[in-house]
Order: sequence, then C-alpha cells, then structure tokens
Amino acid sequence: NDPRAHRPTRVEIDLEALKHNFYQAQRLAGPGQGVLAVVKADAYGHGAAHVAMALQGVGVEMFGVAIVEEGVALREAGVVCPILVLGGLYPGQEENLLRYGLVPTLFDMDVARRLDSCARAAGVVLPYHMKVDTGMSRVGFRPDDLPRVLEELGALSGLRMDGLFSHLAMADEPENTVNQKQLEIFRGCLDRVRQAGFAPRYVHLSNSAALLTREVPECNLSRPGILLYGALPSPAFAGRFDLKPVMSFRTRIAQIRKVPEGTGVSYGHRFVAERPTVLAVIPVGYADGYSRQLSNVGEMLVRGQRARVAGTVCMDWTMIDVTDIPDVAVGDEVTLLGCDNGQCITADEWAERIGTISYEVFCQFSKRVPRLTN
Ligand code: PLP
Repeated sequence: NDPRAHRPTRVEIDLEALKHNFYQAQRLAGPGQGVLAVVKADAYGHGAAHVAMALQGVGVEMFGVAIVEEGVALREAGVVCPILVLGGLYPGQEENLLRYGLVPTLFDMDVARRLDSCARAAGVVLPYHMKVDTGMSRVGFRPDDLPRVLEELGALSGLRMDGLFSHLAMADEPENTVNQKQLEIFRGCLDRVRQAGFAPRYVHLSNSAALLTREVPECNLSRPGILLYGALPSPAFAGRFDLKPVMSFRTRIAQIRKVPEGTGVSYGHRFVAERPTVLAVIPVGYADGYSRQLSNVGEMLVRGQRARVAGTVCMDWTMIDVTDIPDVAVGDEVTLLGCDNGQCITADEWAERIGTISYEVFCQFSKRVPRLTN
C-alpha cells in the first residue's frame, strides 16, 4: 500500500485534528462524562481503524459501530476498548459478537432471547445496552412496552443490562420542543428501568448536536460522530465551536488543454467555452465519489484559487476551467475538499451544492481512493 504506487488522487486524514476535536468533545461533555466515539461507516469515511487507534490512545471510553462486521474489523486492527454495536443483530452473528467481545444494542425481544441462549451455552453473561424509542420512530423498545420487556429481560440469565440509551430526532434544532419531550420520555424510561432492578452503568442520549447545545445530567456518556471529524451537525452552528476539519481530498492535474471559443466539453457538451479557455483535466470522477451532480457547479482549488467544473463529471475524469489562474501546469495540486493557501472548500459547502449534508459527502469516497494519514 505504498502511496507512491497510487495515482495522485487521495483522501488525507489529519489525526492531530481528530484528537483536537476529541478533546473538544471531552471538554463539552465535562468532568466524569465519557465519550463514545461513533466510528460507524468506516468512521464516516475517514478510515475506522486509523481513527479508532488514534482515539484509543487519548482516553476514549467506547466506540460505536453500526454493524457487527465493523466491530470485528476494529478488533482485528487492534482495538481493545469496548465496542457498542448500535445497529441490529441478525441470526448467525451471535458467534462473532461473543468471540470478538462486542456489546450489542437490544431493541427486540426475539434477538434478546436468541442471544441469551448463545451466551448461556458459552457460559458467559453478556453485557448489552438497551435502546428505547423516545421519538425518533426508528429502532428501540417502545416506552409503553417497557414493563413487559423489562420483566422478560430480567429473567434472561445470560444477559446483563450495561447501558440504556435513546436517540434525538431534532437535536440540530436545539429550541425545538421535540427535544424536551424526548428527554422527558427518556427520564421516565430510566426511572422504570431502575425501579425494575436494573442498574445500567452507562446512560446516553447526546449525539454531536446535543453535546454542543444541551446538558443532560442523567447521562454519563455522549455519542458524538460528526464533530470528531471537524464538521458541524448543521450549518446553523457555524462559527461557534473550535473544530478542525480532519479530511482533505486532493489530486494533481493530469493534462492541460487550451481550447478556442465555442468548444464543447465532456459528455453532452453541457459546457461550451464562451472564450478561449484553459481546461485542466483532473483524475477524479464519480467512481471516486465526486458526484455527477457537481457537473458545471463544483469548485476546486488550484494555487489557492477557485476553479469551476466545466461540463459533465465523468466516471474517472473531471475538467475544470483554469483560464483565470496564471501559470497552471500539469502536476499542480488540486484540492477538492480542504484548504489551500488560506482558501477552503468545506464539506458543508460541497454538501450544499448537491443538496445533501456533510455526513454524506464524507461517506461517499469510494474504496479505490486511498486514505493517507499523518
Ligand atoms: N448515535 C447514534 C445512534 C447514531 O445513529 C449517530 C449517527 O447517526 C450518532 C450517535 C452520532 O451522530 P452525530 O454524527 O450527529 O454526532
């Protein structure tokens, strides 16, 4: 995996920025509060193994993954911290869960019963976190069902409740009354759980947006994802927090073409030069994660200046108009995400151009793009 053997198109990951953001999360969480780093979906495209190994050394309490396979990959990379599988557990995955010491989330009694028999057969008591649906209408036990569920869970001797959590639907709108409602329902669930004789060691509710904006005294763990990667849950939070972007996406110019006025560019000739134009051909396409929706609207940085995409983004190539940037040459660095000479293209800016959120921008870089860490 020698970087010199790759074409120049790469994602760069700044682990020092990651640690800086993690310390910000710890500071926001406050003393006595742990941080569960959400590293699902390959750490939002940043490379889960590198991210987890870096955070493991600086005091992370736990990692959160979406699926068992992601937890197994982290263990194989050398992660020894607790790993919570936030998503579902499917028949056949129990063995890996136990073998790799992963902590399941329970929100379904059939899964609980299956896990209980596997744990008893293996002679272990398996810790789990219980998820309740307080208003997201996604996964989670329904609060009304708790009396019955808790009675049944209490009878499963192969399982031990180690955590209780829920997820907020509107945390990026801190003033929205849905937040308060969910919090009250969550408090009710916590009381019920304790009254039923369970003593979950971890109680958690806050994603990045909630960690940035509200205190939840009942909780002793937060679950930030996006803020660790230096982006905000919503552009509405801009300018208020000291976060450093972790990911940059860069390449180098492969070819320069000077074309006369009237020349059509790329598939469909959706760009036609209105003047004698200098085009730079960039070895990046939608197969790398550079969305075709950026055709004619995306911008890249060359020599610290912005250049607009000219025409349709192809599978492996994109042309940009560099007519107004002096002395552009083959081999010049091109920044598609990140900063160059004080100019920056943020994930939020990119997301806005294609009608999505920074989360999806980070997750879209394809496997063939190497992640280089510092
Ligand atoms: N907790 C759960 C259950 C999640 O699904 C997610 C992400 O989607 C997070 C925490 C982290 O959210 P964020 O990246 O907004 O901090």
